[in-house]
Amino acid sequence: MEAYCLKCKKKQPMKDPKEVTLKNGRTATKGTCSVCGTKTMTFKKMSS
Ligand SMILES: [Zn+2]
Repeated sequence: MEAYCLKCKKKQPMKDPKEVTLKNGRTATKGTCSVCGTKTMTFKKMSS
């Protein structure tokens, strides 16, 4: 699982990814950048 890290300014492997559902019904994955420890989040593409 990779997510864009604002601090590294590039995609980094995500540490401790957790799937969350937002208020608008979208599914996202939250975690932390495995390089610098900044919180990262990435949206999942709808499969349907
Ligand atoms: Zn980072």
